[in-house]
Parts: sequence; structure tokens; C-alpha cells
Amino acid sequence: MRYSKFKKHMLTLSLVSLISMIVLLFVIVWHLYSAILKERKILIHSQVDTVMSLMHEVYEDTLEGKLTKVEAQHQFLEYIEKLKYSDNGYFWVLNTKGVMLMHPYNKSSVGQSLIHSKDKDGKFFVKAFITTTQHSGSGFVSYYWTKPGDDVLAQKLSYVALFKPWGWIVGTGLYVSDLNREIVSQIYIGLLIIIGLFLLSIFVSLQLYKRYLTELREVAIFDRLTRLYRRSYLDEIGPRMLKEEHSLPLSVIFFDIDFFKKVNDQYGHNYGDNVLSAISSIIQKELLPHKNVFRYGGEEMVALLHATEEECRMFAEKVRFTTAEHVFHYSDSEHFHITISAGVAIASPQDSFSDIVRRADRCMYFAKARGRNKVVTESEVRGLPDE
Ligand code: GH3
Ligand code: MG
Ligand code: MG
Repeated sequence: MRYSKFKKHMLTLSLVSLISMIVLLFVIVWHLYSAILKERKILIHSQVDTVMSLMHEVYEDTLEGKLTKVEAQHQFLEYIEKLKYSDNGYFWVLNTKGVMLMHPYNKSSVGQSLIHSKDKDGKFFVKAFITTTQHSGSGFVSYYWTKPGDDVLAQKLSYVALFKPWGWIVGTGLYVSDLNREIVSQIYIGLLIIIGLFLLSIFVSLQLYKRYLTELREVAIFDRLTRLYRRSYLDEIGPRMLKEEHSLPLSVIFFDIDFFKKVNDQYGHNYGDNVLSAISSIIQKELLPHKNVFRYGGEEMVALLHATEEECRMFAEKVRFTTAEHVFHYSDSEHFHITISAGVAIASPQDSFSDIVRRADRCMYFAKARGRNKVVTESEVRGLPDE
């Protein structure tokens, strides 16, 4: 229960980090987008500035009498028509009446007045070029235009500047949709990386979770000294085993080491620990087919098994016998034996789990009273007063 909560918390944490990474990606992409847009705006601005200075040069040639105005304008348009920058950057020239004087791709528009041209949003963009340049000499205008070679309307941002002596407007633009496409592909790449990292982190977390869960569970349910299950685990699993459908009722064998205090007194607590651990191993080994052996407290152990009273007696007798046979070597010259007493109780239909444990404990006390190193089953002492 607590572990599944832990797992849930881990997944929540991973999801929070995934969402944070995605938010971070969008923040980064937004900054990237703004930076690229700024850089492209600077580019088209400087390109138009270059063309404007060219126009000045040819204009000055007319002032110096080197060229006529018509020649200068013709030369300039011819030159500008072929002028390209970056991948697909080009220039166009209009006059202040909105008549197209040069467009390298939209030749049919040359000579036409575009003053009434509207984009898909109803924006009179040519009028916008004229008003922008009349107000401040130059500026940016945003509108929709068919991208050369694409035949689809694309959002465009143009920089336009007015050359007053001729009343000409030179412009160039960037397709914002191209930029959007670039940014979207960056987002896809970023998302793919994030999802990859997320899956990797989930995988690593699950591996760690499994590893630590096993360790945590071991610490939680096993007693460190005896390597038997802890009492808390008995309280958890006992009532569950009692409710389980089984052909045989649940039985409890209650063990208590005889005169264990004396072992501590005579050989010390540490050696007492070794004895306790050795006897626990004997119980564990003898009851191996039924793995449910618990340290109930101090030097008391409890075994749970689905078995008849006779089978339980047999198991308990084996433990008792093996324990009694075992020789403890305190030192080369000091050897001793230890015995154990056991009580056996079988569940009746109305029993709670604690009832059966209490009755097995009572049987164990009969075994003590009858001289220790004994196994007493419930049927032997039913109806007898406590000894
Ligand atoms: P009895 O035959 O009546 O059971 O005699 P006993 O001396 O075993 O008495 P009892 O069961 O009441 O006492 C248990 C003793 O076990 C008391 C305590 O000092 C000792 N003991 C309990 N837990 C530990 C432990 O973890 N290590 C050691 N070394 N001794 C323990
Ligand atoms: Mg005891
Ligand atoms: Mg004891």
C-alpha cells in the first residue's frame, strides 16, 4: 500500500519534470523565435539600406550628367531585379502611386497599379507601404503574399523605404511562415529529445524503484538478528491466511526457548544472540515447506501453516528434537545444549487470528509447566484449567 503510494509519487514527480521540460522547451523556443525574427528584420533592413545607397549612387550620376534619369532608372531596375540575398531574398520597386515598377517573380504585375490590392485579411498592403514610407521614410509592413514557387498565401513581413527624388519605394521581405516552419521543426526535435529522456528516466527510476523496494521490504519485514519475519508482518499476513480458502485449517505453533535468561546470564547477551539466531535457523529449516516463521518477540517464535494437528505436532517435535540435539560450543572446553517448548493450536471457524495465537501460547505454557522440552497440542489440554 505504502509502496504503491511511493510509486505514484515517483510517477507524479516524473510527470511534473516532463511538464517542466516541455514548458522550458516552449520558453526557449519562444526566445529563439524572437531572436531569429529580430535578426531577420535587421537583415532585410540592412539589405534595403544597401539598395537605397545604390540608388543614390546612380541618382548622383544623373546629377553629374553621366546618365540620363531614364538610363539611371533602367540600369538600377535591371541590376536590382537580379540582386538576391540569403536563400530566396529579392527586392521589388513600386512608385508612390502604387504602380509596380519591378518584381523579379511577379512579372505580370509590372506596370499595374496595385494600390487596391488586398491580402486575405482585407489589408491594403500597397497602401500600407505608401503610408509607412510617407510617414517615416521607411518601416515594416506585415501582410499575406503568395510565396514564389509555392503558390500558397504566406504571412510576410516586408521592409520598405522611399527614395524621395524619384518617388520610388524599394522593398524586400521575409516569409514568417518559413520561420514558423523552422521553429515547429525545432519544437518537434526538442519534444522527441524530451520524450526520449523522459522514457529513459522512467526506465531508470523503475529499475531503482524495484531495487530499493526489494531492499526496503526486506528491512521492513525481516528481523535482522534471526532472519525470520517480524511480528508486524505476522499481524499483516496472519488474518489474511486465516481467511484464505484452504482444505486444511490454519494452525499456529508457538515456540519459546527454555531458560534462555540463563544463557544470557552465563555466556553474555552477545552469545545469547548467536544461540537465538541458531535456533531460529533450526525452526526455519525444519519448517521449510511452510515458510511462514516469525519472531514473535524476545526468544519466542511463531509458525503458521495449513496442516492437521498431528502434522503440526510432527513439525514441532522435529524442531524440539533437533534443537535439543544441537551442541553449542561456547569455547573449546564449554559445550552445552538448549531446549525449546512448543504449543500447537488449530483455527476453529469463529476464531480471530489473535485467538489462535493466544491458545497456542497457552499450550506452550502447559509444555513449560510439564517440564519444558515438550510439545503440547490443544486437544491434549482442552478443558483443563491453566497450569
Ligand atoms: P522459560 O523457560 O520460562 O521461557 O525461561 P526463560 O529464561 O526463557 O524466560 P523468558 O522466556 O521469560 O525470558 C526470555 C529472555 O530472553 C529474557 C531476555 O533476556 C532474553 N531475550 C529476549 N530477547 C533477546 C535477544 O534478542 N537476545 C538475547 N541475547 N536475549 C534475549
Ligand atoms: Mg519467552
Ligand atoms: Mg523462554
